[in-house]
Amino acid sequence: MTSALKSVLLVGGSGFLGLHLINEFWQLEPRPEIHVFDIRELPDTSGYKFDRSKIVVHVGDLTKEEDVKAALSASSPQIVVHSASPIHGMGKEIYHKVNVVGTKTLIKCCEDAKVPALIYTSSAGVVFNGEDLFGPDERLPFPSKAMDAYNSTKQEAEVFVLKANGALKTVALRPAGIFGPGDRQMIPSLRTMAERGQHKIQLGDNLNLFDVTYVGNVAYSHVLAAQKLMENAPGVAGEAFFITNDEPIYF
Ligand code: NAD
Repeated sequence: MTSALKSVLLVGGSGFLGLHLINEFWQLEPRPEIHVFDIRELPDTSGYKFDRSKIVVHVGDLTKEEDVKAALSASSPQIVVHSASPIHGMGKEIYHKVNVVGTKTLIKCCEDAKVPALIYTSSAGVVFNGEDLFGPDERLPFPSKAMDAYNSTKQEAEVFVLKANGALKTVALRPAGIFGPGDRQMIPSLRTMAERGQHKIQLGDNLNLFDVTYVGNVAYSHVLAAQKLMENAPGVAGEAFFITNDEPIYF
């Protein structure tokens, strides 16, 4: 890195991925100040490597400009990581409000505050059209119709983030399914289905492709992106990257 990262603001830092982002940024030498901006406080963090008393939490709503401005002003970050999103299964309005309005608000506030760089946690779902994708890469365009409201708003937000690349350097990272300690969605919903006996139902030929990546690796990809943006490495700013273990599984 040309200069060490002094301060990072993790938007959505109280979430599943967010806590692993704290964990990964915590291990950098020298350690940056780590700030979290989230609508909720940090949950139980036992089992993580970081000392939660050293993490500065700014409770606020991404869709409220005044909350975002206050967090940026208190943290003076060189890197903002935006991994806030409503959980799966919510209505279209809430996805639009947080993913689209919230992301636009964050971009504007970052530009106004002259933040050097923004990393957006997008999703591999932005290119998913319901068909198996074999070895796709970042040249794959968005499908003409997104799978659902979650994916269509993740697409929209990703477009805004990448178009904003300029004085504010931006990058979008696209994990697919994320697994690991603290998962609130994938394994818990599989367990619920098993408990309800819903595993007897089969859709398709049982060979649907699915891509999952360990949460620590997804978090580490954000640290690598931060380092590359700080170095002004070519081919990073303004780009989207799939984040994967490179070995899709049959689900
Ligand atoms: P999560 O729900 O555990 O974490 C999201 C965090 O965002 C939560 O702490 C929540 O309180 C916060 N948040 C929501 N609305 C907010 C608002 N208005 N203002 C401030 N904070 C708000 O989700 P996660 O699984 O950790 O996902 C993190 C990111 O990764 C999301 O952007 C998601 O779209 C993306 N992603 C997740 C998966 C996955 O399998 N979990 C896969 C691909 C992409």
